Amino acid sequence: MTQCKECGNGYEVGVREFCSEDCFKKNIQKRIDDATANEKSHTSKLTKEDS
Ligand SMILES: [Zn+2]
Repeated sequence: MTQCKECGNGYEVGVREFCSEDCFKKNIQKRIDDATANEKSHTSKLTKEDS
């Protein structure tokens, strides 16, 4: 069983590394948002805390 990289659920057959196309798309969208945010807040948001 593989674990979905988006929601953490285990799955047998999924899309790439995700349990469903929904999670796959969500993850892609997040990456796009992240990239956009990084560009926009290039200098002002250097202290982003990720635990
Ligand atoms: Zn999922």
